[in-house]
Amino acid sequence: MDYRFIDTHCHVHFQAYKEDMDAIVERSLAAGVGLITVGTQSSTSKNGLALAEKYDGVWCTIGLHPNHLHAQEFHDEDELPPIIGGVTAPGGELSSSRQEEADSVKIKTRAERFDPDYYRELAKHPKVVAIGEFGLDYYRVPPGVDLDLMKADQAEAVRAQLKFATEVNKPVVIHCRDAHADQIELLKAEIDRGGLARRGVIHCFTGTALEAAAYAEIGFLVSITGIVTFAKNLQEVVRQIPLSQIMIETDSPYLTPTPHRGERNEPAFVEHVAAKIAELHGISVDEVARVTTANAVKLFNLS
Ligand SMILES: [Zn+2]
Ligand SMILES: [Zn+2]
Repeated sequence: MDYRFIDTHCHVHFQAYKEDMDAIVERSLAAGVGLITVGTQSSTSKNGLALAEKYDGVWCTIGLHPNHLHAQEFHDEDELPPIIGGVTAPGGELSSSRQEEADSVKIKTRAERFDPDYYRELAKHPKVVAIGEFGLDYYRVPPGVDLDLMKADQAEAVRAQLKFATEVNKPVVIHCRDAHADQIELLKAEIDRGGLARRGVIHCFTGTALEAAAYAEIGFLVSITGIVTFAKNLQEVVRQIPLSQIMIETDSPYLTPTPHRGERNEPAFVEHVAAKIAELHGISVDEVARVTTANAVKLFNLS
C-alpha cells in the first residue's frame, strides 16, 4: 500500500461533493492521499460505505454524531454548521466566513438514536475500519434543549457506541468539543471493563498539551486538522505532542487549511497540515508523512 498520506477523517460522501465526488476522490488518490470517509448518522454511515466499496484507498467509519441526537438545523442535510468556537478560532476570520456558509442552506434534521442492529450489519464489511464519529459536544446546544438532558443523552450514546466498538473489535473515532474531562472518563470506564482493545483517536484535536498527554496515557492518538495552519495556540500545543501520537486529517468539506482558506476543503489539501506539523517539529514533510501514515495504517489496520 503506497499512499504518502492518509486523510484519516473527511466526509467526501457529503452533499458538498454531490456534483464531483468521484473527481475529488480520484484527485486525492492520484496525489497519493488515501482517505477515510466518516459517517455521522445512519444515512451517512451507509453512504460512506457505498463510496468506500468503489475505490481501493478509500475506507469508511460508521457511527452517530452527538449533533444528530436532537432535531436541529444544519447547513446541509448531512452535517452540522462548521463553526469553530472557543480557543481555536483567533481573529474571528474563521467564525465569520463559516457563519456565512452556515447561513447559506439550513435544513432541519431529525433526531436519531444509536441502533446497534443497524450498525452491526454495516460493520461486517471489511471497508468499515472504525466506529465513529461519536462523542461529547457541549459547544453546540440546540435551541430549546436542556443542557443537562443533552449531556445525559450524549453520554448514553457514547456508552452505547463504545460498547459496540468493543463488541465488533474496531477502534473508535471520537468527536469532542469542550468536554475532554467527561470524554476521558467515559473512555476510561470502557477500558477498565476490558473494552476498547483497539483504542482510537480524538479527531480534530484542539485541546491542551495536558489533555493530549492524558489521551496518550490511555493509548489514544489525536488527529490534527487544517486549524493548525492558522491557529497559533494550537500550533504551540502540536509542537509538544510527539509525532508517534499524531495522525492528520482534513475534516473536508470543513476547516480548509491555509493557503486555500475560503475554498471548499478536499483530502488532497492534507499535505498542508503535514507541512505545518513538519515546520513545528523541525523535521521534513517526508518524516511526517512516513510516521503519520504508519500510525493510521496501524490503528485502522488498513490494507
Ligand atoms: Zn467531528
Ligand atoms: Zn467530521
